[in-house]
Parts: sequence; C-alpha cells; structure tokens
Amino acid sequence: MPMTAMDVYKNLPKTNCKECGFPTCLAFAMQVAAKQKALTDCTQLSAEAQEAFADSSAPPMKLVHIGPAGDAGVEIGQETVMFRHEEKFHHPPALAVKVAAALSDDQAAARMDQINKALFTRIGEEIGVGMAAVEIEGLAPEAAAARAKALAEKSRVPLILMGSDPAVMAAAAGAVAEKKPLLHQAAGENAEAMIKVAADTKCPLAASAEGLEQLADLARAAKDAGVEDVVLSFDGHKPAQTVRDITSARRAALRKNFRALGYPVMVDVACDDPTKETVLAATFVCKYAGIIVINGLDGSELIPILTAIQNIYTDPQVPNTVEAKLYEVGAVTENSPVMFTTSFALTYFSVEGEVERSKVPSYISVVETEGLGVLNAYAGDKISAEKVVKALSEQKVAEKVKHRKLIIPGLLPSFRAEIEDTSDWQVVIGPEAATGIPRFLVEQK
Ligand code: SF4
Repeated sequence: MPMTAMDVYKNLPKTNCKECGFPTCLAFAMQVAAKQKALTDCTQLSAEAQEAFADSSAPPMKLVHIGPAGDAGVEIGQETVMFRHEEKFHHPPALAVKVAAALSDDQAAARMDQINKALFTRIGEEIGVGMAAVEIEGLAPEAAAARAKALAEKSRVPLILMGSDPAVMAAAAGAVAEKKPLLHQAAGENAEAMIKVAADTKCPLAASAEGLEQLADLARAAKDAGVEDVVLSFDGHKPAQTVRDITSARRAALRKNFRALGYPVMVDVACDDPTKETVLAATFVCKYAGIIVINGLDGSELIPILTAIQNIYTDPQVPNTVEAKLYEVGAVTENSPVMFTTSFALTYFSVEGEVERSKVPSYISVVETEGLGVLNAYAGDKISAEKVVKALSEQKVAEKVKHRKLIIPGLLPSFRAEIEDTSDWQVVIGPEAATGIPRFLVEQK
C-alpha cells in the first residue's frame, strides 16, 4: 500500500530545517507521498533510516538527467500515473533529431546549427528540438571522438551517442563525458561491454532487449554495475507491439512497484517519410516516451509533434491562463484600437498573434474568465457585458486612448447594447475568429 503523507511525516525528524528545499517537513512529506521525492532526500535522516527506506520510498520511476547539470540538461521519467486525468504528466519528452554518421564534418556542423535554431514560440512558451542524436556507427574511434567533441561544443542541447561498437562508443563517450550524453545502446552481444562504458564514463545508458523480462534483466545488470541512469529503448517501427510493451512496463513500475522497469523510455521512429514520423512521434508522445528520435527538421513536422507534447504535458486540472490585464501589442499610441478577449491562454495568444500579423499596434484587455475561451466563458456565465466594462475601468483603458471605440469578439454581439448603455464605450463588432483580425484592423484604420 502506498505511503500517505502522514506515514512519511511520522518517519521524519520534524525539525523544519528546510535543507530539502521545502519549508516544512510536512510539505516535504506530501511530495514523497505524491512520488515526486524520495524519503531519503531528507538530509537529516539517520544512516539507519536512509538504508531502511532507500527502496521503499523511492519514486517508482526514476528521474533520469541527461546532459550538463542545470537548465542545459534534459530530465525525463519520474511519472506517477498511467493517465493524465488522474494527475498531470510531469516531464515532457525530448524530441531528438538525428545527425547521420555519413555526413561530412561540415555537413554535421551545419545540421547541428539547424538543430540549435529549431525553436518556436507557442502560447507564450518556447518549444523546440530538445536533443541531438549523433550517429557514430561505422566511424573509427578517433573520428567518433572528434565528431562527438565538435558537435557537443556546438550544440545547445544534450547529445545521444548512437553506435553499436563498444570501443567506438568508449572513445566518443570519453571525449564528451563531462556533458553526460546518453549512450545508445546496450543490446544483445554488446550489452555487457556497453554497460562497462557507461559505468566508466558515468554517462546514462539506453538499454534494449527482445522482451520485457530480458529488458528488466538488462536494467538490473546495469544498476548492479553502478549505472543508475537507465533509459529503456524501443523500436518505434512496430507501433502496436511497442505501445503494448511500453504500457506494460509503465504499469509494472507504477502499479506493482517493479523497479527493474521503473525507468523512462525512448523510441526511435526515424524514417524517410515525414508524415509517418510525425504520426508515430505523436503516438509515442501520448504513450509514453521520454525521448523520441526522428530525422525530420522541417517546421511542418516539428511543430505538430511539439504541439502534441505541449498539450499532453499541461495539467488537465489547471486551465492554461494569462493574467487579466491590459496588454500592449506593438508601439501603441492614444489612437490605437482597443479590443477585449478572455484569459484562456490559447485564445489570448491567438488574438495577440493575429494583431502582430496585422502590424496595427493595439491594446488587448484580458477579462478574467477562469481560463475559459469566449463561447465557453459565455455559456458558463464567466463573462458578461458588466464584467467587460468593469475590467476596462479597472485597467484604466480610457486613460491610454483618446477615442472610445471598443472592438468586441464577433461571437458576443449581444454585449453591444449593455456596454454602450452602461459606459462611454462605443462597440464595434469584430470578427468571430482570430484569423479575421488582421484584415479587420487594416480596414478599420
Ligand atoms: Fe524536514 Fe528533513 Fe526537510 Fe529538514 S530536510 S525540513 S528535517 S524533511
């Protein structure tokens, strides 16, 4: 039976010393009960208690850090639920793009430049390629080491080193060990030698086997050899079987506390067909990859996958909101248009993006709707003409402009009469969809 926060709390020193990073022992106990911390992270536990609780209180799925310490690294794993309606998924998968071994040094460097630049902004958040999967298969040890070193120095993201020859992998991993690349992979006959490379270089290791029992044995062997950070590696080109295997591994770890499969997983879906890669990658975003390896670097492929990651890894119980206040888009003046929208982040950023696209500097007043979009807020009684007038007043919009024209969403034409009756604002009914904003604003000028 899982430990409750009070079960954990009983075993803590209760000094509230804050050394674990939490303000009180009870706050820390709640994190342990939520499987986000191990009881042994309490720095004040006695050595005996550390030993006694080492296994029983550890999160059922290990958190694996790849890359340099701090923000430059990637953290995957430590998930606590099978389904995101139970609780949010915590660590979004890293999208890794391959750099083929067959490329010349100049071509590989150019590809790394493209990977570095593969960043986009969506709903106010920066999303992008999270890892570079550097293939060194077929290279001589010295060439592999030189390739790994040159690309690691150039890269803004952590590396995966992909090769099957332990001697070549040892040379490449040794050259960039301080950057903690993921070594891909221990499998079949090379497994033992690859585990030794990971243990010697203290790098995380991907492990792959034909069945889950064999994979669990391999993960145990790596742990026994001192490799704590293991990633379970699967072939993404047999999607039905792989989804079944990954789901079974996660269920065994989370529901049965089966530690040998309590690691994040990676899936290689790389192929020459961008559409197939996109579909497979999006599938494994949902079920349950921590790293997804692809070939494509075109925005038309990356953005759908990154959007899927962003959507699946938001907290379904917490609406995605922006602060209710007056936003200025562009170099606004006292003649700039004024419009309002709701506090649902996707709605706000859609409106903001279209205003930017129009190149007409504008004010956007965001009305608090508890994260609901226009129609949902209206249906749920979270927005009204009275609330809009109150927001305009609280945000002192009338002090920013000398006109009194308010553009309202085309989905709420019924607000017009009440807004005009109860304030100085004259209503102009805007487009129903954000995509209509650029043309509308240009025509209103
Ligand atoms: Fe309590 Fe231990 Fe955290 Fe100190 S380190 S606040 S004793 S849980």
